[in-house]
Formats: sequence, structure tokens, C-alpha cells
Amino acid sequence: MATGTKRDYYEVLGVQRNASNDEIKKAFRHLARQYHPDVNKDDGAEAKFKEINEAYEVLSDEQKRSMYDRFGHNAPGGAAGFDPFAGADPFSTIFDAFFGGTAGMGGRTQRGPQRGADLRYNLHLSFEEAIFGCEKEIEFRRLEMCSSCRGRGAEAGTDPVRCPKCGGLGEIRQRAPLFNMVTVTTCDQCRGEGTVIAIPCRECRGEGRVRQPRRITVKVPAGVDGNSQIRISGEGEAGPRGGPHGNLYVTLDVQQHPYFMRDGNNIILELRLNIAQATLGDEVDVPTVDGNEKLRIPAGTQTGQTFRLPGRGVPYLRQKGRGDQVVVARVMIPTKLSDQQRRLLNELAKTFEPEDPSSARDDGFFGRIKDALGI
Ligand SMILES: [Zn+2]
Ligand SMILES: [Zn+2]
Repeated sequence: MATGTKRDYYEVLGVQRNASNDEIKKAFRHLARQYHPDVNKDDGAEAKFKEINEAYEVLSDEQKRSMYDRFGHNAPGGAAGFDPFAGADPFSTIFDAFFGGTAGMGGRTQRGPQRGADLRYNLHLSFEEAIFGCEKEIEFRRLEMCSSCRGRGAEAGTDPVRCPKCGGLGEIRQRAPLFNMVTVTTCDQCRGEGTVIAIPCRECRGEGRVRQPRRITVKVPAGVDGNSQIRISGEGEAGPRGGPHGNLYVTLDVQQHPYFMRDGNNIILELRLNIAQATLGDEVDVPTVDGNEKLRIPAGTQTGQTFRLPGRGVPYLRQKGRGDQVVVARVMIPTKLSDQQRRLLNELAKTFEPEDPSSARDDGFFGRIKDALGI
């Protein structure tokens, strides 16, 4: 370039004078790849690369391009020493165009096998299975290492070859011509792996992984509930190119029970009593998750009164012992009476004094209503 005769920028990029921005960008990328000093070790390649950058710097900028169109290389205010890198940050321009904006300055990019993705599985459990724990066989599909190429992606009998672009380094170092600065970016051809596949494996099309059914047994510990999640290490998808497996997260979906209700580690059961049982007391068979149990109901039991069956609740997940079963009495007022019942109740009614509303305040009763309403 010491000759003073500079080539026309359009000629340098090999585009028409009316080329669109896209055409200019495309031409630049193509040439930049061809003459990139990391790839092209020929004499003069670096000068050529510089010339390409200079042409692109001008033609990709609307203002500079129109100046260039009008005045050529003798644009006013910069003719003699026209500095293509005068604008700040020349490298972002070059790298944005060259690598699609993925350039990172300086930092070394990570290498080595990448971990596979995590998977999630929704496991349905019955009320009892959640309480007592169980073992469940589940089947799902996941990416596994291709056995044909053992995860390498290259057809059996062939080897991945050294990446021609980065020479196996996995990264590309570029020196700024005008600044004493080195930029390191991940090689875009091998994505940092240093090797590329010449003949892709037929089984996995070079992916190194294939989706396959997987069957495993999940151990559900006693005492889990619908908020629990079980992590099974290494049962997620295989990583690319022989990378380790991700994890499998089993989320639990616990079915409701027709009459038991869970409250943390306690199990709540509503026990319906007729007016005679509630008034006179009784011994009743109460269902628990361990089978029926006898429960003594004292005379005068009121709706909302609770009884505890210790140790009949849900096992604690991380310690010994179980919660309780809480039995809540509910006195059922009959809505249908036989003739005989009606006659007897009428007889009984005559023996009762009417309740006096003005003296009815019973803190136990109101307390229970307040509890029930949460006030
Ligand atoms: Zn394969
Ligand atoms: Zn490479």
C-alpha cells in the first residue's frame, strides 16, 4: 500500500457499486474467512485481510460510504491518512461480522465435555403410597450416548479430524493490527472442541447421542407429599460428545383420599356421629391408614370436638416417628325420621327446657367457630 494507488473498495470486496448492505456484509464474511491470518498463512494474506477490513469499515457505514462514493479515497478530512480504524472499537465490528456477535474479549472459553440436560418426570402416587413410601418403575425417553460411535459422532472406523480453522486449539486468537491487544474467541467451526467430524455416524447423524427409552425404579421415601421432588443423579440426558448425564427430577402428584385429609404429618378424619352417640357416648370403629381402630366417644360430644390417635399419622421424612390422626366429631342432626323416631323425639322434647339465646354464649363453641373460620 506504499504505492499510493489504492484499490477500489468495491473491487476489494468484489461487489457492485449499488450493492446492498447485506451483499457487502456477505462478501466481507466470505473474504474474511478466506484471508483470516489464523487460517491463511500465505504471504500477503494479512495485508489482504487488512485491506478487506478497511473496505468493509467504509462500505458498511452509510455516511462513510456516501463520502467514498463522492470523493473516492480522497475524501475530505481523511484523504491522506484515512484510518479505517479511526472509529472506536474496531474489533467489535470485525468480530460481530465475522462471528455473528459472539465474540468475547480475552476470556478463555471453557472446553471439555458438556453436561446433559436435566429431565423432569411427573409421578402419580396414591395417598397411601405417599405415606408409606413405595418403589415405582418408570419409563421415559432420554438422550443416551450413541453406542455405535461411542458418543464421538464419527462413523465407526473413522476419527474426528483436527479442526482446520483453529488447528485443534478450539479458540481463535487475533491480534489487532493497530493495538497491542489479543482477542480470544471460541472457534465457531468446532465450537471449541478442536476437532470436527469428517464422516458423521449414521446412527446419530454425528450428534453422538440418540433418544432411547429408559426404565428405572424410583424409591419413594415414606412421608413425601405433593410438594416433594426426588432428585436422581445422572438419570437425565447424556451430554454431547460423551459429556456426563444431567439429573432426573421426579415431581410427585399425590392423589386425594376419599375421607382422609393430610395436614403436614397429621391425618384428619371427620367422624360423623348421630345425636344418640354424641349425647350418650359410644365406642366406634375408626378407620386409620393402618386399619380400623377403636375410639371411645364420651357422652356429650359436640361437633368440632377432636380426638387424637397418636402415631397414626404420616411418618416424618428425616426423623423417626409419625404424626397423629386427628378425629374431628361432627354431630349429624337427622333430616328424615321414621314415625317411631318422631314419636320418641316428641316425647323427649317435652322433657327439655328451651335453650335461652341470651345465656347461650359458650366460649368453647365460639372458639371452635373462630378456629374454623381462621379468625
Ligand atoms: Zn453415533
Ligand atoms: Zn476449531
